[in-house]
Amino acid sequence: MEKRPTTYHIIGAGLTGLSCARILKQKYPWIHTVVYEAADASGGRCRSYRDDDFSQVLDYATHVILGANKEMRRFVRPDEWEKNCLFWNAKDESLSSKLLPFKSHILKSCCNTKAEQIAPEIIKNIIKQTFPWLPYKRKIYFSKHNLSQRIINLLTPFADEIFYNTKLLKIETQFGRAAQLDFNNRQVELGADDKVILALDNRNCAKLLKTDPLSHNGIINIFYRTSQKIFLPKGASFVAVVDGIADWVFVNDNILGITISAVGDDYVNLQDLAREAWQELDKLRGVNSAFVPPFKVLHHKHATIAQDALTNSQRPESAKTQYPNVFIAGDWTMKDHPCCMETAVLSAKRAVFTAIKS
Ligand SMILES: Cc1cc2nc3c(=O)[nH]c(=O)nc-3n(C[C@H](O)[C@H](O)[C@H](O)COP(=O)(O)OP(=O)(O)OC[C@H]3O[C@@H](n4cnc5c(N)ncnc54)[C@H](O)[C@@H]3O)c2cc1C
Repeated sequence: MEKRPTTYHIIGAGLTGLSCARILKQKYPWIHTVVYEAADASGGRCRSYRDDDFSQVLDYATHVILGANKEMRRFVRPDEWEKNCLFWNAKDESLSSKLLPFKSHILKSCCNTKAEQIAPEIIKNIIKQTFPWLPYKRKIYFSKHNLSQRIINLLTPFADEIFYNTKLLKIETQFGRAAQLDFNNRQVELGADDKVILALDNRNCAKLLKTDPLSHNGIINIFYRTSQKIFLPKGASFVAVVDGIADWVFVNDNILGITISAVGDDYVNLQDLAREAWQELDKLRGVNSAFVPPFKVLHHKHATIAQDALTNSQRPESAKTQYPNVFIAGDWTMKDHPCCMETAVLSAKRAVFTAIKS
């Protein structure tokens, strides 16, 4: 009988899961990789979708990449990514192209946590490794649209097989090891050498491993659609804002998007928030709008885990789990690291190498 190849079962087709598939295919091509995704498409938090209200492809969440992000920089193509970023202080309405005075703004955005609450170990790490102060590393890149096309679709072909609409519900165990994966639409028996990588957000992973979820912070994205192309000062494509409602302002032709990070549940009326934010945007753009254009609000309540000292101390120490053949990956799994795409890829590397050595 023909021997079944060793199979790595990757749960979740977000950036982390697909990066696991890429690393495995490039370094260990004899290993068979199967990715299982609960949704009907890849990409997780950095996917794009067709928005019926705006009749456009929108990103589920607007993302920036820092020039210092070694892993993510590989996806940046100069003709596709914008880097014309300005900094605006909403209180005194001053504009600057210098990043250093806006350091705490960048820390807040990197960690989706108020700057004064961020764990010192994470700040140290960002300053030392992720964000050294060399000019090219200070660049910030923004993909106007279509993160799926620019990141996710480049990774998907590395998986040998992908099953969509396939949600892992339970890990069956035998003799302390994972023995079978129970999905909503199939059961998969694990071979003796098979490994499982849970490349999931913290809340879904906690359900499967029966651990307590970590505390999370939200992010609000608001998209405004105007009848004409929108311009930001000095031809900028995006603006980082301090002391204002928005943290970032992005333009893409006639769509203006804002991001508000580190939000709890304190925003009760999101419609009022969107109207108030538009008035602030008027000041930034030096105009006086007669009315607020049509907008839509996306409130990502559990965008990332909080990155304060307590939550950071509760993050896992390694990619190992209570089962010797099950491993974890994802932005939240790397203690002392900011929860971002760069960390997601680093966690994929760690999980794959830990699994290979185990
Ligand atoms: C609003 C917002 C803005 C952000 N901005 C930035 C930014 O500017 N820069 C940056 O670097 N990072 C940013 N991030 C963070 C970045 O999106 C994440 O770090 C990254 O996408 C994490 O990828 P992941 O694959 O680990 O997790 P996810 O993208 O969450 O992927 C997990 C996947 O697992 C699937 N899944 C869940 N449960 C199951 C199950 N039981 N069975 C099968 N599949 C399952 C999900 O459907 C999902 O596709 C932002 C995040 C948000 C929400």
